[in-house]
Amino acid sequence: MPKDYYETLALSRSASAEEIKKAHRKIAMKCHPDRNQGDKAAEEQFRAATEAYEVLGDLEKRKIYDRFGLEGLKSSGYNGPGNANDIFSSFGDIFGDLFGMGGSGRRPANGPIPGSDLRYDLTITFMEAVHGVDKEIEITRPDTCWTCEGTGARPGHQPQTCSHCHGRGQVMRSQGFFSVSTTCQPCRGQGTIITEPCHDCDGVGLVNKKKKVTLKIPAGVDNGARMRLSGEGEGGRRGGRPGDLYVFLDVEAHELFQREGNTIYLRLPLAMTQAALGCKFKVPTVHGEKSLKIPAGTQSGTNFTLRHEGVKALRSGELGDMIVVVDVITPEGLSARQRELLEEFAELEKESGAAHQEGLFSKLFRKSA
Ligand SMILES: [Zn+2]
Ligand SMILES: [Zn+2]
Repeated sequence: MPKDYYETLALSRSASAEEIKKAHRKIAMKCHPDRNQGDKAAEEQFRAATEAYEVLGDLEKRKIYDRFGLEGLKSSGYNGPGNANDIFSSFGDIFGDLFGMGGSGRRPANGPIPGSDLRYDLTITFMEAVHGVDKEIEITRPDTCWTCEGTGARPGHQPQTCSHCHGRGQVMRSQGFFSVSTTCQPCRGQGTIITEPCHDCDGVGLVNKKKKVTLKIPAGVDNGARMRLSGEGEGGRRGGRPGDLYVFLDVEAHELFQREGNTIYLRLPLAMTQAALGCKFKVPTVHGEKSLKIPAGTQSGTNFTLRHEGVKALRSGELGDMIVVVDVITPEGLSARQRELLEEFAELEKESGAAHQEGLFSKLFRKSA
């Protein structure tokens, strides 16, 4: 499967918008899943063509793709192949275009173009999420080319209003009974023609720039949290405002602690004797250490709650609890002496504890009878 969008649509890189639309429509009609039930190859081809068309059929996306490739497109907030629903909605657009309704979200030609929102994934440790942390991240993003102020035209030269469509980006054409509005070819729907492209951005209006951003991650964030940095996304063009930067947090697991909301869970392995005789423990918490008294006769699975030893709630600032779950370990690899003592213990248990167990068994047998 070629990943090059032009190859997918069997087009040259200089294909016109009309050729792109035609090539996509041809594949979409031929390979549409409704007409090729269960044909995996057709479905795959349909999907690939739709993905290619989503990019090449959109003048802005195509420009970014031509200049920065798929990676550039991804970092500009375009998230690659859509899900099944997206595919069918863009199939709908084919007919939309036929009847001159145009694609979705078409902006007025020649106006300011706002920058896209960008996504950045950041991994932080469990403890950083619990306590909060300042992180400096360096992002590379398409930013406004200030040589041309995002117009794409060489300084001293203005983009010329397209004489073909008079700056509207669309032209009307009669087609049978209908009067159809189509994208203006000479300006590719932009409404303007750049005769002297800016040297720094080749007429795109955007250049890749690195920027360091400091993120103040508050205590209590959890896996999947999203932070928005206003105006730190892709730069705007022709005076448009920049997009936002969304940072998606991925919190690493901890070797001891588990977290559910603001509650911390700790599994505490206890020797059988410790559980039976009772003991005192220093247990680790996310805030340090805390002593915990295990009473004699503690069963496996017993929970102990340590108040306010959990995670600080993001909004209220209130501290959650920590829950210690006891896990009683049955001894293995006994020495001869240990075995001897345990056997002696078992003899004693027969006298005192067997009654309890018998009662339990008789209850079970009565139920199944
Ligand atoms: Zn420029
Ligand atoms: Zn035009």
